[in-house]
Amino acid sequence: MRAAVLLSILACAAPAAAETIALEARPAVGYKKGRPHRIKVVTLGWTDVEITTARAFLVMATAAAEDGVELWIRSGFRSHDEQRMFYQAYRQGWGNRAARPGHSNHQSGRALDIYLGPGAYGWLEANARRFGFKRTVKGEPWHWEYVKRPRKQRRRARRATDRV
Ligand SMILES: [Zn+2]
Repeated sequence: MRAAVLLSILACAAPAAAETIALEARPAVGYKKGRPHRIKVVTLGWTDVEITTARAFLVMATAAAEDGVELWIRSGFRSHDEQRMFYQAYRQGWGNRAARPGHSNHQSGRALDIYLGPGAYGWLEANARRFGFKRTVKGEPWHWEYVKRPRKQRRRARRATDRV
């Protein structure tokens, strides 16, 4: 079992400014269809992200940066407590739509809310699928889910991230 995974992240849009930092993979409890399961998360920027999704996102973000588009994650993995909070806020009428605790894909680790800066949505619409990401919630253009891992991308992701 790898204790630490090295992930490359882009400090800004310029590929030359790519910065390599070491991130600890930590165990967490994910939920799918109301059932708990063990996952591993890493911290990217200000949010936790399930490790497989994080790898795929970083490959995608690198490609986007090469096209001059910055991709940032606003919200990634959510713990059960966080989802409960989001759900309550939604039910009380002052939060974005949120699934019942245990039933959000943010809890499975697959969902990412991506900050839609200049050019980001158009880029995602044209390219995200190649990297295994798909828009899944109507009316939420920022919500993308990692649905598969094409082989080629998987190899690239491994090269980019497993350097320990
Ligand atoms: Zn979302």
